[in-house]
Amino acid sequence: MEKSLFLTTLQIGPYQVECHLLPMASRKRWAVEVRSTGQVILRAPARASKSQALALLHHHQSWLLERLHRQQAKPVVAPLGENTPILYLGEVLILKPLAGKTGQGVVEEGQLLLSAPSQNSEDIQLALTHWYRQQARGLLPQRLRHWAAQMGVTWQRLTIRGQSSRWGSCSGRGGINLNWQLIKLPWPLIDYVLVHELCHLLHLNHSPAFWAAVAGYLPDYARLRNQLRQFTLKNNGGQTAPAD
Ligand SMILES: [Zn+2]
Repeated sequence: MEKSLFLTTLQIGPYQVECHLLPMASRKRWAVEVRSTGQVILRAPARASKSQALALLHHHQSWLLERLHRQQAKPVVAPLGENTPILYLGEVLILKPLAGKTGQGVVEEGQLLLSAPSQNSEDIQLALTHWYRQQARGLLPQRLRHWAAQMGVTWQRLTIRGQSSRWGSCSGRGGINLNWQLIKLPWPLIDYVLVHELCHLLHLNHSPAFWAAVAGYLPDYARLRNQLRQFTLKNNGGQTAPAD
């Protein structure tokens, strides 16, 4: 590699990324190169600072995730433990396992303080799943009621479960199923799934009338739908990988 400065190692989705800064006297602007080896090279103006570079990386995480996926970089799923980044409502939280009962958690200053009976990766995984499910049961029904009230619809039964391939579904009898993993996504994407399923109470298909109903509540649903495709449901801890 050219004369570059090692910046940091980042976990971006399922990818472990080595980031390098390459200041060049001739450059006026920043350029980001993503390599299939999982390296990210930031070409920068000569006087660029390390903190500018880190801020830039932080701001463009979802863009980087998409590029890494397109480059078919090799995913490395790190075992869960101290300092593993996990996703919660679209934010990256740093995991801080504590000794205690399974799955009690507190979000504090960008960290998730999570209690687990031991520090081994499987116990932490169980504790984290437990905590995610708890959050999902606490937050999703409330949000669903909010949208249902706006739309003037009612559902018969709500189940929050861990389907492996769907974010949500709606049965002909007015039953709504939501995936607890929704809790990892940003609110606009959660809202898209909730509105989508509620609109199935009106139209049990994906007809133009169905999409018109969705658009009535979320005019930019097409963009949200595309963003949702970047996430897959594979349960690799808190880390969310782009969909194939
Ligand atoms: Zn649908």
